[in-house]
Amino acid sequence: MSKQPAMHEPATQAASATTGDVPSHLFRKAVEQAALAISITDARANILYANSAFSRITGYTQDEIVGHNESILSYRVTPKLVYETLWAQIQRQRPWNGLLVNKRRDGSRYLADVTITPVVGEAGDTTHYLGMHRDVTEVHRLERQVQNQKTLIESVVDAAQVAIVLLDEKERVVLDNQEYKKLIGDLGKEPAVKLLAALREQMGDVYSKAHDKHRNIAAHEMCIETAKKTSRWFSCAVSWFEEHDVGADAFYEPTRRHYLLLTIQDISEIKRQQEALRINSLRALLAEQERIQGLRETLAGAVFQLEGPLNMLGAAAKLLERRLSSQTPSNGTGDISASALEEAMQKSREALETLRACIPNNSHETMQLIDLNDVLVDVLKLATASLLSAGIVVEWSPSGKPATIAALPAQLTNLFKQLVANAIEAMNDRRGGSRELRIACKANADHFEVFVEDSGPGIADELRYKVFQPFFTTKGAAKQHLGLGLAMAQEVVSRHGGTIDIDPEYRNGCRVRVQLPTGGNHV
Ligand code: FAD
Repeated sequence: MSKQPAMHEPATQAASATTGDVPSHLFRKAVEQAALAISITDARANILYANSAFSRITGYTQDEIVGHNESILSYRVTPKLVYETLWAQIQRQRPWNGLLVNKRRDGSRYLADVTITPVVGEAGDTTHYLGMHRDVTEVHRLERQVQNQKTLIESVVDAAQVAIVLLDEKERVVLDNQEYKKLIGDLGKEPAVKLLAALREQMGDVYSKAHDKHRNIAAHEMCIETAKKTSRWFSCAVSWFEEHDVGADAFYEPTRRHYLLLTIQDISEIKRQQEALRINSLRALLAEQERIQGLRETLAGAVFQLEGPLNMLGAAAKLLERRLSSQTPSNGTGDISASALEEAMQKSREALETLRACIPNNSHETMQLIDLNDVLVDVLKLATASLLSAGIVVEWSPSGKPATIAALPAQLTNLFKQLVANAIEAMNDRRGGSRELRIACKANADHFEVFVEDSGPGIADELRYKVFQPFFTTKGAAKQHLGLGLAMAQEVVSRHGGTIDIDPEYRNGCRVRVQLPTGGNHV
């Protein structure tokens, strides 16, 4: 390609010319020193002039490049269509701007942001083209990197097993993931709003302060009622994301926006398993306690039963001794019987002591503050299977506010478990009729009352007190009843400083009332 000295050295030709008030040589200087790669071509893109920045970017000296076609810069990966569009545009005498993959003199590639402007001659035809370009490889790399990171973050967030949602300052959703979308409907149109309202309500000031100061909130577990009126447990954590305003206005005066990132984990299944585990361990603990208590009562009863005849034997021995001492002289036979009796007595007393020593101690439970309502709910859970199989309808009325007392939790649970078991058994004994179990907890000024009502046959007036005596039972021995249930219940109630009785007025079955003081220094 031949060189074009006319354009290669424009300064000599235009030294005296002026453009407006600016002399042409000033134009040339400005173009020469511009930071942008500038080239001037003929109408076929053959380079007539290239400035220093052009040389810096492409690696070609001005002498090397002049006379070559701009296509020398093409790396041949830019689609043909781009060039066709470029040419179609500039041939219509319109400027074109776009990105081209260029190749430097040393073969290395760069991305060029190119603007080509047609230079129209006096006759109206395009005589030259003005090409300006800059290396945007680094900008493009950064843009792509940001884009890649955004895509990566979005895919990770989307694949996460926890629901994630990003909210702006007005609690509008900016970003969410698949797991979050699954909550929509069940927790209303915007689950985040419902969950944040619940967090606010449950955490009160702690939430407000953390929110106002954009401080993170560690995972907080809460139970939410769904649209289907079922309960679901969620663990919610809040963290904050700060964004610098990207608008031009904020370039010299940076402003920040805060976004709230809410992560939500559905822990309903874990909670269900934990609750099942807790109820099972409670069941095992109560069964063990019941067994020990039963053993205690049985052995105590046996000792009590044996003490009677032993006392009678003691009295007989004393009588015999007195008679023998009045008979003089002794014939020897009486002495032998007295000492044999004394020996038998001694052995019996030792056997009784051994029996007494076998009576297991009461459990080593310690006093705790508990809510009676929770105890009664646990009792109902423990009895669920029996209640269902007996077709019993349960009505549960908790006290409006917490019924907190200091108590031995397992013993108290066992007490109500016993009362509920009695009620179920009583209703099972009665054929036909309604089967209803009503449990209520009432708060009074200085004590709480728990009522356990059943629609069974009830307890006859004359037996109202007797049923609390050990070994008294209205059931036959065939049913393996020791008659210790209510006696044990009474013992537990007394240990808690309360009372237990059977309502004589109640005629639709049996109503047991347990009164427990609100204080807790009685045990
Ligand atoms: P080419 O054969 O040059 O052209 C490919 C297609 O472009 C053709 O099929 C045709 O449709 C069209 N075309 C090419 N020349 C003409 C013409 N004279 N009249 C009408 N249509 C034509 N290219 C780069 O790769 N990098 C650059 O930095 C660059 N800067 C340029 C600056 C200016 C001022 C001008 C005018 C052009 C520039 N070009 C640049 C475009 C360049 O001239 C080539 O068209 C391009 O490089 C493709 O080259 P090629 O050899 O692959 O195909």
